[in-house]
This record gives sequence, C-alpha cells and structure tokens, in this order.
Amino acid sequence: MPEVSKEEVLAALTGVNDPERGADVVSLGMISGLAMRDGHVTFAIEIKPEEGARKEPLRRACEQAVDRLPGVLSVTAVLTAHREGPAPGAAPRAATGSTPRAAPSRPEIAGVRTIVAVASGKGGVGKSTVAVNLALGLKRLGLRVGLMDSDIYGPSVPRMMGIEGRPQSPDGKRVEPMVGYGIPTMSIGYLVPRDTPMIWRGPMVQSAIEQLLREVNWGELDVLVIDLPPGTGDAQLTLSQRVPLTGAVIVSTPQDVALLDVRKGIAMFERVNVPVLGIVENMSYFVCPHCSGRTDIFGHGGARATAAELGAPFLGEIPLRLVIRETSDAGTPIVVTAPDSEEAAAFMAIAADVAGRLDRLAEEGAAQAPRIVIQ
Ligand code: ADP
Repeated sequence: MPEVSKEEVLAALTGVNDPERGADVVSLGMISGLAMRDGHVTFAIEIKPEEGARKEPLRRACEQAVDRLPGVLSVTAVLTAHREGPAPGAAPRAATGSTPRAAPSRPEIAGVRTIVAVASGKGGVGKSTVAVNLALGLKRLGLRVGLMDSDIYGPSVPRMMGIEGRPQSPDGKRVEPMVGYGIPTMSIGYLVPRDTPMIWRGPMVQSAIEQLLREVNWGELDVLVIDLPPGTGDAQLTLSQRVPLTGAVIVSTPQDVALLDVRKGIAMFERVNVPVLGIVENMSYFVCPHCSGRTDIFGHGGARATAAELGAPFLGEIPLRLVIRETSDAGTPIVVTAPDSEEAAAFMAIAADVAGRLDRLAEEGAAQAPRIVIQ
C-alpha cells in the first residue's frame, strides 16, 4: 500500500473544525510536529493552556480523520498547550539552528538518524526523569528510540528503567544494549556495581562515554536520547563537540538560580553549534495529592520567561508530583505505566514537540549534506 503523505494528512485535517473558533484546525495553525513513518502518523494540536481537557473531542476528531486515510496504520495526536516563544526580534539561532554539522570531529553513529541530548545546569532538577520519559514518549509516538546514560557519576537510567544485569558482548567487540520497555539502553551503571565510588579524571570521562556510545549495537534508531551529566563544564562541552548531536533539550526548575544555569547551558550549546530544541520546566508547580489544589512552590513560569528572553523555544511544564517521583524511582516510568494520566500527557506533549523539531532539523541537515555525483 502506498505510504500516506504529509499533504494528504493535512488535507484530511482541514475537514476538522474547531467549533469554538469556527475554522478548521489547519487554517488556524493548530497542527505542529507532523511526522510519519511506515504508516504511523503523529502530530500535536496546539491549544491555549486554559482550554485543557475541553479540547479532547477535537483531538479525537483529528485522529479519526487521519485514521480513515488509506495507508495509515496508527495515528497519535497530542494536545499541547504552549507555543514556541522566541520574542520578536530575538535571535532565533537556538530555536532553528540550521548550522551544518561539523563532520570530521563528530563521526556519525551508524544507523542512528538523530541524537538529542538532555542537559541541565545542575543535578537534581529532574534531567534523568525527563530523559527517560521523553525517550518513552518518543517511542509511543512510533519512533525507534534508544537511551544512552552518559551520567557516569550518577547513572540513573538502570534504576529508572527498571533494568538489571550486565550487557553481553557476543563477539567480544561490540556490546548488546540492555532493553527496557522496548528501548535499547546503555549506562555505566550496568558495568560497575552500584554504590561503587567512581573517580574519573577528565580524559577518562570522555573516553568512557564515547566507548559506551560507540561500541554498542544500537541497531536502526530514529532518535537516540542522551542523558548528559549535570552541569555545563568540560565533560559536557567535549561530549557536545565529539558527538553529532542534532539538538539539545535543557531541563530546569523555575527558580532564578536554576535559570541562571539555563543561560550557561544555552551558551555552551551555542559555542559548539548544537541547536537548543527547547527548555522544559520541571517541578513547575505542585498539585496536592489530597485536595488537588495547586501551589507554585518554586514560583512558576520562570523557564518560559527565560526561554522567551533568550530566543529559545519553550517545550512545556511538568508538575511536581509524588507519582512522578515514585514511578521514576521504582523503574516504572509514568509515560508507560500511567499513559492516560495528566503527567504522562505533559511528557507526551513535549515528546511530540521534540519529534517535530528533530524531524525538521534532520531534513535541513540532509538538504545541506553534499551530494555525491558519479559520472
Ligand atoms: P537529575 O537527573 O537532574 O539529577 P532526577 O531525574 O534524578 O534529576 O530527579 C531527582 C529526583 O527528583 C528523583 O528522585 C526524581 O524521581 C524526582 N523528580 C524528578 N522530577 C520530578 C517531578 N516532576 N515530580 C516529583 N519528583 C520528581
């Protein structure tokens, strides 16, 4: 069966009206991040934050309209309540980043189409939680995803993905990744016993990370998510220089101090020409498990404001919730164990946004690659 095209999907979506706004979702510019692979279609529907769950029927109508097209095997539409926020006139380099990848110093990883680094200015802001749920969210959107834990000081991926054991190397050269929830992963945590204090010096850090990354049989991947070590020091800088990153996601909490680190993070990625896909505000606000009342513990919205000020996209907010801590620490990430929860929806919206941005950057990169002409 011929594969469905983006034009056909958009044409189908022009048949879906938003009754509140009296026009179709495409003309209203509500569709973003449209991506498709082998008949699996994913896109986001941008709504206003206050519209929330009210738009669920619209989401379903969009899915049904696309599902009816011949050649479509599955459709995933997610509601996303934010807009890309570069301030008018702000330098959009971080947002679109159409910089060609510097090939010689950043050898490709065979079979891996795009690589996204998840970074944070400091530890404890939920970087690994976001990396794990983002990877699982991208997988739910139909992409082939891998997850690499490059935090060699405090590897969290084994615990958060609920994976135990040691990776095997049948040929003695390349290592088989450890698979959890259908995602191949690699982490130093599989190789050294837990609670072993690890003392790494600069060059060792780099070679350990590169070995972990390059000597793994990742297979064919649409996206490899890399959980970077916290901070914006030498280790992160060198990694960003040596690995062909398609883009970076920066995780922050809303406090001013954390936001200072976001600035450092953006500056670091700019230095090495890695586009910043956007900023995630984690622990954005607290929802009480007893009364469902909302409290802005750290002050809320700081990351969105910083993103707008720096001309970087804002990807979304994740609430501070006990269920996120419990699932993340128990190895049962919320995106897979409670996919219908509000928290999972927040991660899914971010995943859909990131998928769209990666797709656009990969297309730009392919268009810039030199063509080889054989005469
Ligand atoms: P980092 O990778 O930045 O050091 P982690 O992802 O390890 O941070 O998160 C630190 C701790 O905070 C973990 O116990 C995690 O479960 C918890 N946590 C992260 N995000 C949230 C959240 N949104 N709500 C509640 N707990 C969270």
